[in-house]
Amino acid sequence: MSDFRDHIATADQEGRRQWLYPRKVRGRFFRARTLLSWLLLAVMFVGPFIRINGNPLLLVNVVERKFVILGQIFWPQDMIMFAVALLVFITGIIIFTAAYGRLWCGWTCPQTVLMEMVFRKLEYLIEGDSHQQRALDKAPWTGGKVLKKAGKHAIFFGLSFIIGNTLLAYIIGTEQLFQIVTDDPAKHVQGLTAMILFTLVFYAIFARFREQACTFICPYGRLQSTLLDENTIVVAYDYKRGEQRGPLRRGQSFELRRAAGSGDCIACRQCVTVCPTGIDIRNGTQMECVHCTACIDACDDVMDRIGRPRGLIRYASLNGIERGERLKVTPRLVGYTVVLFALAVLFVFLLFTRSDVQTTILRAQGALFQKMPDGRYSNLYTVRVVNKTSREIPIELKLENSTGSLQVMGQPIVVPPQKSAETSVLIELDPAAMKPGATPILVGVYSQGRRLETRKTGFIGPRDDTRP
Ligand code: SF4
Ligand code: SF4
Repeated sequence: MSDFRDHIATADQEGRRQWLYPRKVRGRFFRARTLLSWLLLAVMFVGPFIRINGNPLLLVNVVERKFVILGQIFWPQDMIMFAVALLVFITGIIIFTAAYGRLWCGWTCPQTVLMEMVFRKLEYLIEGDSHQQRALDKAPWTGGKVLKKAGKHAIFFGLSFIIGNTLLAYIIGTEQLFQIVTDDPAKHVQGLTAMILFTLVFYAIFARFREQACTFICPYGRLQSTLLDENTIVVAYDYKRGEQRGPLRRGQSFELRRAAGSGDCIACRQCVTVCPTGIDIRNGTQMECVHCTACIDACDDVMDRIGRPRGLIRYASLNGIERGERLKVTPRLVGYTVVLFALAVLFVFLLFTRSDVQTTILRAQGALFQKMPDGRYSNLYTVRVVNKTSREIPIELKLENSTGSLQVMGQPIVVPPQKSAETSVLIELDPAAMKPGATPILVGVYSQGRRLETRKTGFIGPRDDTRP
């Protein structure tokens, strides 16, 4: 298509959708992607049932603002850390994309994995390869066609229901999901509505939108043009080796082709027919390319059959193609990988070194200091402890840096799992340990003898001139 930059491959001149029928692909990259997809699908569907210290592996409950990552619960108080983790994540994505291109899209994105490894394979199974699908769509409505189409869409709908429920489980947790399924429907109108909506959205994506989800909806795809540069590893056509393209005539040797100014591309369009986004990679890196490697496999197969080396389409940087190099590990790639690794370590470090509790100590509203009969001064505080874990935590408070005493008013503090507890605390200091006006003090928060964190607060006393 000569005007490929003017409109997308899946729309005609009038902007009407051109339905794609990508051909079945076989090859080493497809085999590797299939194996990886089994692992990813297993993790995706089993994920909501995995528990770490009694917490889900991942929970993104935006409704109740409850987030769990790798079994670590994030509270609204953790938002600063959450923001840091988000920054690490975004920086990681930028660096990863600048170095490795859309490796994520082609190999691990749930949209690609589900579309190409589940829905597309089922479609091939029911309707056949691309030419059979075309023929079926053009054929008049017969009993056989109705059966095939109805069967396919029923299976797609059922699968979308499972995917929608899996997503819901990542949002509200498996316990709540089972409650919605088993309880009186009238009590879970919201949950059931979400379930139906998710199912319909996934059905629409996998049965109709397909590649349009990557081209029009996904923001990551649209960011590519700003993140890629000439050193980024992309799925690329080696135009130096391939051009001038032209059909291979019977009996024509490649020496003769070279002499006539032709390259290795025999213009068979096999790379185009397998592309799930309908583009021609020979036109260069394009926004629609999800780096699924189907064109690499298709072209390698052609090269094998015509006795030319594989890799006319391959993973390469544009600079690498310019210089005619195979993919190699450059210092830039090593540098980016080290930074990525360091960011991942930082994220895990932040995640696992958080305190189990979050304590706030504030002087009781409106209360001033008091002078006790023994000459010491006292301040009253309100202490709130948030338990970020899913186990009960008994709390002891100790004065860390001053001569004095700390007394919890009322019952000892025991914070229920994922809840908070509030109590009043009386702190008394010796006048000798006090500074005029305000004295900074440290309060240690302990549980069963282990210090969880230390909090700083102020102790108010008389100014110098009023002290006895
Ligand atoms: S599959 Fe290879 S040889 Fe055939 S058109 Fe594509 S790039 Fe050229
Ligand atoms: S151009 Fe190749 S890698 Fe890109 S989407 Fe199409 S088949 Fe996949």
